[in-house]
Amino acid sequence: MKFIFADSLDFVDPRYDFLADRSPPDREVYWDDKFPHELLGYAPYDGILVSRSIVGGHAIQGKYNQSQAMRFRRVGVREFHRFREPDYPNSLVFGDCGAFAYHKFEEPPYNAEDMVDFYGDGAFTHGCSVDHIIFDFEELTPEQERDYQESQEERAKENLRRFQLTIDNAADFLQKSKRLDNHFTPLGVVQGWSPLSMAKAARVLVDMGYGYLAIGGMVPLRSAQIHKALDAIRDEIGYNISIHILGFAKADEIADFSPHRISSFDTTSPLIRAFKDAKQNYFLPGANGRLEYYTAIRIPQALENNTLKRLAKAGVYTQEDLQKREQAAIGSLRAYDRGKAGIEETLSLIMDYTKPFAFGRDQGHSEAEERKLSGIRDRTRHTLENRPWQRCACAVCSEISVEVILFRASNRNKRRGIHNLAVYGKHIKRLKEAKYNDRSINIQSHQSAAE
Ligand SMILES: [Zn+2]
Repeated sequence: MKFIFADSLDFVDPRYDFLADRSPPDREVYWDDKFPHELLGYAPYDGILVSRSIVGGHAIQGKYNQSQAMRFRRVGVREFHRFREPDYPNSLVFGDCGAFAYHKFEEPPYNAEDMVDFYGDGAFTHGCSVDHIIFDFEELTPEQERDYQESQEERAKENLRRFQLTIDNAADFLQKSKRLDNHFTPLGVVQGWSPLSMAKAARVLVDMGYGYLAIGGMVPLRSAQIHKALDAIRDEIGYNISIHILGFAKADEIADFSPHRISSFDTTSPLIRAFKDAKQNYFLPGANGRLEYYTAIRIPQALENNTLKRLAKAGVYTQEDLQKREQAAIGSLRAYDRGKAGIEETLSLIMDYTKPFAFGRDQGHSEAEERKLSGIRDRTRHTLENRPWQRCACAVCSEISVEVILFRASNRNKRRGIHNLAVYGKHIKRLKEAKYNDRSINIQSHQSAAE
């Protein structure tokens, strides 16, 4: 099972000054920056995935600026990401359209020919056919499924149109991708509105000649729904066909998915959760093959944070007061890291600064706000008590120590994400080894039974 990291220019500045909170003036974005595999000194993933809509172009505004997009087209995905094959042997580079970016469009902005060019120019090892997202997901019986397909309801008709469009594009893509050399593996994308419709799409793609399928539209689904979809697909096509899960947001539940024998999945979730999750921002290996999570400590920049700037402008707090609280909180946290400050004083200074940006006032909180506040206090205390940043030996934590747990400025937040990628990469590796050991134990016991 290959762990593929879905990149969207997630690099950091290696010379960022954490005390002054700024990059050196001569920093050249991208050129001087480090991708996760560069910062860690190894790749915590088996490969990276680049979506065409993230690169951008005429049809869709991506994340790359114009010169980055031009360089990407000129030098290819590996050179652009400084993820060269000799340095990262056996690594993979996946591509897809990034269908979420155009889900509101009538038609995908790319055709099969465009995508074959994109994958060929970029020297991708794996590329997905052109799909159009179906967001609806219902569990239908075979009978309800027949009704659905004859339904005159607009949503059902639209979903059927997208289903057929995705299949037709896959047929076209499979033919056209034959002009790429045999280092390229085409993946046919499955889109459907139910487990049975996804199974049907999978059957059609396999009959076309695909040996590797990518299951799309999984991002908003609950785990139980993903299991149902995969069960239906495997029931239909068996286990000889490889399956990739596109945009697998339930990455930390991956162990529960092993019965479906997934060949690969892409995700960005360990990185994103460092700064998008409300509670689980910092990963460590936990007990029983699970991950352990900690909440990052929010100390935003008083002069940069929009909420705080608004409060100062409205005269609720003075800017001096906010900056004083900010410096007291961050100073105490750094002292706590060195054993020079106690947990209670540090916690109380952090909470003094939390109140303005969380509620806009120091007192008179509602009951709900009090509950929220005590939740933040408990999680912050848990993080402080356990000092997780001191228990990790990755390149990020060894270098920046307590700064990694600070929810403040992209250079810390993304580094914490990169640390999570390192922990997650090891987590996947451990799962694979455990599975291998289980199997060899099984084989041994079978052998001794035979003897
Ligand atoms: Zn670390």
